[in-house]
Amino acid sequence: MTQGVVILGATGSIGASTLDVIERHPQRYHVEAVTAQTSVDALLDVCVRHRPKLAVIGDEAREAALRDGLRARGLATEAAAGAAALEHAATLDGAPIVVAAIVGAAGLVPALAAARAGKRLLLANKEAVVCAGALLTDAVRASGATLLPVDSEHNAIHQCLAGAREPLRDVRRLILTASGGPFRRQHDLSAVTPEQACAHPNWVMGRKISVDSATLMNKGLEVIEASRLFGFEPSRIDVVVHPQSVIHSMVEFGDGSVVAQLGTPDMRTPIAYALGWPERIESGSATLDFARLGALSFEPPDLTRFPCLALAYRALRAGPAACIVLNAANEIAVEAFLQRRLPFVAIAAVIEEALGRLAPAAPMSVDEVLAIDDEARRMAAQAVTDWGIR
Ligand code: NAD
Ligand code: MG
Repeated sequence: MTQGVVILGATGSIGASTLDVIERHPQRYHVEAVTAQTSVDALLDVCVRHRPKLAVIGDEAREAALRDGLRARGLATEAAAGAAALEHAATLDGAPIVVAAIVGAAGLVPALAAARAGKRLLLANKEAVVCAGALLTDAVRASGATLLPVDSEHNAIHQCLAGAREPLRDVRRLILTASGGPFRRQHDLSAVTPEQACAHPNWVMGRKISVDSATLMNKGLEVIEASRLFGFEPSRIDVVVHPQSVIHSMVEFGDGSVVAQLGTPDMRTPIAYALGWPERIESGSATLDFARLGALSFEPPDLTRFPCLALAYRALRAGPAACIVLNAANEIAVEAFLQRRLPFVAIAAVIEEALGRLAPAAPMSVDEVLAIDDEARRMAAQAVTDWGIR
């Protein structure tokens, strides 16, 4: 019998890579449910190809379009819409595997629902971990769920730690690699456009994470994600720029051994690892050709040109609430940049402003997380407006 997979955020970049891996293993997996926020046509295309039981559109105004589209295509897929339907999809009885591939804090509630329901949770949605890492890992422990990171760095660390009995004792530090993004060598960032920011040298990704990679906030969020997932203090998590994106991250053990995970930059590799674990399954990714690669290089991150990375360390040291503020302000600032309402270099300024003004207590529940997220979004939106009229 095949295992059912739910893909939250099926129309995105991670969603597409996941579907690609699943298609290679029809005897192991089938798609049980898929979700998207607004793109009905893309969701319908996925339904035609994979014939899931359930398709959910986040935007309730598009439910009729989804239902009509399914009927017009002669599909038996059930249509649903809205936040409750998203949570329902994340906890379906027929699917032991849930892929959390929604972008942003919007993915937190369904990811948490999957964790509480004891699923094998393939987690790409790093913002959910940044906002509520403890709630997620507690839920996983309480329900007996399995959390497998899909973010390539954390997936690499998961692989490097395999066999380590007591990572917190045996490991000196985690070393996250960063490509450096499209502006690694660009000194003046004042006139950068969304198109330039989204043109990543090594990866094709959604627009939000592409901008995060250009500001290095992506690495900042990943430092927080690593701390939450693996329990390491910020002082034991380092970042090194490695422009080839071949080493996906490393672990340095107490005896000085450094274990790295390598591969072509292709998200199908970490997705296949997380789907198949502890087995290894074919991902479709290309073989690494060392002779053609020639050399791998490394350099320290430039925190002056890329202050977002330093802001993320600051938030991590300040505590869980500051991480929610950092993430929310970043989501607002990035969206404003993509809409050409905010210059690239002001993204960090908006986040710093929100971090400076808000110092809420550590959240104890998902409702408190969402309340802090909401307040930080309002504060950041105001900072964006203020920036425009200066
Ligand atoms: P994307 O923008 O390509 O896709 C996002 C998906 O989420 C889409 O299906 C969209 O319909 C859905 N979505 C968007 N807003 C939503 C909302 N408010 N509610 C419900 N659904 C919503 O993004 P992506 O690049 O696939 O990234 C997804 C997540 O995976 C992000 O958290 C990102 O940081 C992480 N990630 C991505 C990559 C990558 O290579 N793309 C690598 C590592 C981690
Ligand atoms: Mg990553």
